[in-house]
Amino acid sequence: MAGHPRIPFNRPYFTGREREYIGQVLESRLIAGDGAFAHRCEALMGQRFGAASVQLTTSCTSALEVAALLCDLELDDEVIMPSYTFVSTANAFWLRRAKVKFVDVRRDTLNIDEAQIEAAVGPRTRAIAPVHYAGVGCEMDAIMAIAGKHGLRVIEDAAQGVNATYKGRYLGTIGDMGCYSFHESKNFVAGEGGAFLTNNRDLARRAEIVREKGTNRSQFFRGEVDKYTWMDIGSSYIVSDLLAALLLAQLEAMDEITALRGRAYGRYAMALASLIDSGTIEIQSIPQHCASNFHLFYILVEDLRTRTRLIEHLKQHSIHAVFHYVPLHTSPVGEQMGYRAGMLPVTEYCADRLLRLPLYAGLQDNEVDRIADAVQRFFGK
Ligand SMILES: *Cc1c(COP(=O)(O)O)cnc(C)c1O
Repeated sequence: MAGHPRIPFNRPYFTGREREYIGQVLESRLIAGDGAFAHRCEALMGQRFGAASVQLTTSCTSALEVAALLCDLELDDEVIMPSYTFVSTANAFWLRRAKVKFVDVRRDTLNIDEAQIEAAVGPRTRAIAPVHYAGVGCEMDAIMAIAGKHGLRVIEDAAQGVNATYKGRYLGTIGDMGCYSFHESKNFVAGEGGAFLTNNRDLARRAEIVREKGTNRSQFFRGEVDKYTWMDIGSSYIVSDLLAALLLAQLEAMDEITALRGRAYGRYAMALASLIDSGTIEIQSIPQHCASNFHLFYILVEDLRTRTRLIEHLKQHSIHAVFHYVPLHTSPVGEQMGYRAGMLPVTEYCADRLLRLPLYAGLQDNEVDRIADAVQRFFGK
């Protein structure tokens, strides 16, 4: 297959409005945070997703940190989450000296197994942090019921779940707090960026202060107070309006971007149907009551060796495919926390076998066909 152009794993998609909006910010000379474009992004998301408060942050990591700060955790309080996630889900709480309680994932979605959560709840448990893997919603009804019964906060790590729904409700708006990512690798990008969401007025008001270095500067700018001052703990989590301008162009094209990703996703699923039907590979199953945003397309193969060989095979066909998380419980920090390999069997099984194929808005039909064809040939089909 020499001579074929290389297919990258990810390629940010631009809608055409980015330059115009960034140009407007440069002309205005108002390039600091919490500016006009940030407010437009926040209003757009608030309306569309049904969230009373949306606040842009410098990343999903920082949105998670805001959420963790608002949990008022004490030493050795516990937070439940999957181990199959990005480090920030855990780090945000570990930074607050909380204990991280890892729960295994479901084989069909790789989301936290809601049936195993309650067994992990103890007297010091304060919160659950479900992660919506690949933009497919966790079983939020069950999770909210457990949280209600035990008085726990729910913080949704919806970094991958922007513009996806569970039973008609947008991911990130169902728990007490939600966190989005606009990193270059996500569906809607600002390069680096995120958002904190909540429908709880008190949490919203406090988040505004935490995000602004612990001051009530946001209230000052709205003319609600005549000077601003130190009110609470906090840090610097607001986003330059240059990046908010880039993000607004993306958010305005949310439907277009999602449709393009969905098209590529559907084409993969069709092209690989025979391998799926024969049990050679597995893909994520999307429950009826969830609408995906098609954040990523993964396949599970027979074993680690097969995956390593398939990555190499695709590389020789100029296709960049990648695996995903090293489970957090088997990382050096996880081991320091007392976790060991063998404790979360589904997580470990899937982590070794999962391969992500290129998926982005703008990936062409013939490129999807070329990738699917290379996968089929690898398996001798
Ligand atoms: C990408 C990602 C993050 C981190 O997002 P940043 O915006 O890069 O901080 C956190 N959690 C999950 C599940 C992610 O996929």
